[in-house]
Amino acid sequence: MEEGRLIVVSNRIPTEAAPSGGLVVALHDALKERGGVWIGNSGKRVYPEEAAHGLTQIAKTPYERYSFDLTEEEHQGFYLGYANATLWPLFHHRTDLLAVDPDQARVYREVNDRVAGLIAEVVQPGDVLWVHDYHFLPLAEALRKRGVMNRIGFFLHIPFPNPSDMPALPERKQMPDWLSSFDLIGLQTRRDVSNALDFLRDNGAEILLRGKMKYQDRTFEIASFPIGIDVDDFVEAAEAHADSGEHLRLSPGERLVLGVDRLDYSKGLPQRFAAFGEYLSHRPDPQIRATLLQIAPPSREDVEAYKDIRQELETITGRVNGEMAELDWTPIRYIRRNIEREILAGLYRRGDACLVTPLADGMNLVAKEFVAAQDGADPGVLILSHFAGAAEQMEAALMVNPYDPGETARAIEQALSMPLHERQSRHLSLMQSIRETDITWWTRTYLAALQQKAPVAAN
Ligand code: ADP
Repeated sequence: MEEGRLIVVSNRIPTEAAPSGGLVVALHDALKERGGVWIGNSGKRVYPEEAAHGLTQIAKTPYERYSFDLTEEEHQGFYLGYANATLWPLFHHRTDLLAVDPDQARVYREVNDRVAGLIAEVVQPGDVLWVHDYHFLPLAEALRKRGVMNRIGFFLHIPFPNPSDMPALPERKQMPDWLSSFDLIGLQTRRDVSNALDFLRDNGAEILLRGKMKYQDRTFEIASFPIGIDVDDFVEAAEAHADSGEHLRLSPGERLVLGVDRLDYSKGLPQRFAAFGEYLSHRPDPQIRATLLQIAPPSREDVEAYKDIRQELETITGRVNGEMAELDWTPIRYIRRNIEREILAGLYRRGDACLVTPLADGMNLVAKEFVAAQDGADPGVLILSHFAGAAEQMEAALMVNPYDPGETARAIEQALSMPLHERQSRHLSLMQSIRETDITWWTRTYLAALQQKAPVAAN
């Protein structure tokens, strides 16, 4: 039988002919290879009568791309509200920041219903659907209600919540219906799989076999598929832009510690800055100059919980720099801009260490990019939080508890004084792990499992 098309659904859709960015490129390649359709949000906000027009075709080749628009009310309720002020904090173990708002929950379901209607018009028998992320948890249920019986997969890019946090979500009782309407639920880590299995089992689902579950009359599977990067592409970009570090004008012998994150409360930035201050105050040789270059462009500034973090960071930066800076040295440099990917690759390569210290993170691709960008002959050291999804695979990093500034400070000291042979052997082992599960592995393995061509990955 001829293979059906692949239909990808994601919140944002690339609008350019040759998109960039790891995930987007991987999905673009998969769609190019087998033909298909990509459906996503245009990012435009329109009046309700315009939104009612449905899908707009934005490309025909090498595969079809369609976008839909949101109204202002939908943007507020679906995107800023339920997705990013309710689900995001819950899934990142921050129930203290979770907003409960029945109107936003209603709009979230309505947008999923509307998008399901648009997809139902495009889908053909034999097509396989791959839905991405927490914006579309109820999408498969809405599609099933419209009679779409195709295989539908889901991938959650962020952590699965701790089951003990779930009572904070008023819609928790609908979650088993939402999840079990998919055929395959892909999660980043074994820890996420274990949380999802526990939650579903406690809410009426039955575990049949490893990863296979039954809920009411539906069977579905849950497994981990740790997402990766295009390693060779990053190696090449870092080599080609190895001189990016010169822009920094560091003084001779000055050490560079990097941080690269979206400005988000899940990234542990205040704790990181405090740890760096502690490292500086206790460093054995006060002559050593180490600079923390933190690149953190703001995101979701319209969501209340994101307003404080910016101010908090500026206060800590001011305190540490005020105490430690000298006429010709600023210990924390904080850049709030996006940096071009190639330049970023070169900066990673110049880094003596990289601090990837989230309090919770689905995977964290910066950890993998930093490793790929290193010069194997003289590599920098990755300092990685236990709470990043990447920690399950990247055991050769220096692992830290991001809540403990003393421990992180000691790891910075250890990284900056690590002998070359140890840096090399850790780097080699980390390269092996990021190559094993790179982005091509991820798309192929997931799609093979979704189409039941391969047993579901280990969990
Ligand atoms: P998240 O998806 O939560 O933002 P990840 O670490 O998984 O976190 O992915 C972040 C991606 O965004 C990486 O590919 C990284 O290179 C990129 N990125 C983060 N900060 C910047 C920045 N300031 N400029 C350019 N790219 C950035």
